[in-house]
Amino acid sequence: MRLDELGEFGFIARVADFVGEPRGAVVVGIGDDAAVLKTSGEGHLLVTTDAFVEGRHFRREWLSAEQIGTRAACAAISDIAAMGGEALAVFVSLGLPGGEEAAFGEQLMRGIHNVATEYDASLAGGDTFASPSGICLDVVVVGQVDRPWLRSAARPGDILLVSGTLGEAAAAFHLLDSGAAPHAEGLPTALHNRFVRPTPQLALAQALAELAAPPAAIDISDGLAQDAGHIAERSEVALTIEADCVPLSPACYEVAAELGADPVLWALTSGEEYELLLAMPSAHAEQAVAQAQQVGVVLTRIGSVKAGSGVTVLGSDGSPIEFERGGWNHFAPQ
Ligand code: ADP
Ligand code: MG
Repeated sequence: MRLDELGEFGFIARVADFVGEPRGAVVVGIGDDAAVLKTSGEGHLLVTTDAFVEGRHFRREWLSAEQIGTRAACAAISDIAAMGGEALAVFVSLGLPGGEEAAFGEQLMRGIHNVATEYDASLAGGDTFASPSGICLDVVVVGQVDRPWLRSAARPGDILLVSGTLGEAAAAFHLLDSGAAPHAEGLPTALHNRFVRPTPQLALAQALAELAAPPAAIDISDGLAQDAGHIAERSEVALTIEADCVPLSPACYEVAAELGADPVLWALTSGEEYELLLAMPSAHAEQAVAQAQQVGVVLTRIGSVKAGSGVTVLGSDGSPIEFERGGWNHFAPQ
């Protein structure tokens, strides 16, 4: 079967199949935002890796070298936040065409270093090679957590919460893609921040570390509807999202109106938002909302968990919304 028929997740499932259950120190392997490893102490180590390829994950004409690095580091660290953890160290494999200015590579690495430093993590190693075409990088982040937040932890009766607002990444992308903004520098401030320096929700993870039980969690990197599907699958439950409850960014409304698009559809399917989707018992929600507020993060209830499977997104009239695409899938025809 061809990859563009199997899809990214079909391929990963095949690999997960022959790898089987994790062994030895690995407690959670393929299938969550990061792998979870036992240590000799009480805590767990977290390891995540994310690739960024020119023309696929970013366009060079939209970003400076430093911004390419900043964005990649934030995206990679976000997976540590999605596990409820804190970042410790960052490793970068970087491929650049030999004809590139050294200063370009240096600026890119500075972008990564600055983000790592901001989150008290160190850029601790990597690999450098000549790329036959374009810029490519892979960012590995090692983190730690006492009680990991797993995609598999959602239970029937839980409620779904999302951090912040959604839709800015889509709005930024469409402004750039339509040519309305020729470079990230031309984006309105909120969109610029989301596109160039999305916030990994590490502060939220720390703020909720003392909840009576760790929530189920995933970061929204491929689109809310699709990422919700990963929680549904790993937890073997059904998720219902009420589209009317999903908090949209004001900038998402504005840009969608400007470009004649549906802002709600953007918010439901926009990847690279890096907000967290959480599932937890409703009895924990009040405390979670209050603790999030203390670190300046708004948590909004957007749905619920039931017995069953899959994700249903209900529109204003209470009937399910059908999606052509619930989010990003590598290999799928875009
Ligand atoms: P995320 O969006 O959180 O980075 P992905 O959707 O990229 O997660 O990946 C889903 C899961 O599949 C993760 O646990 C990831 O580590 C794993 N995975 C992806 N590609 C591979 C691969 N080639 N080999 C092994 N595991 C993989
Ligand atoms: Mg993730």
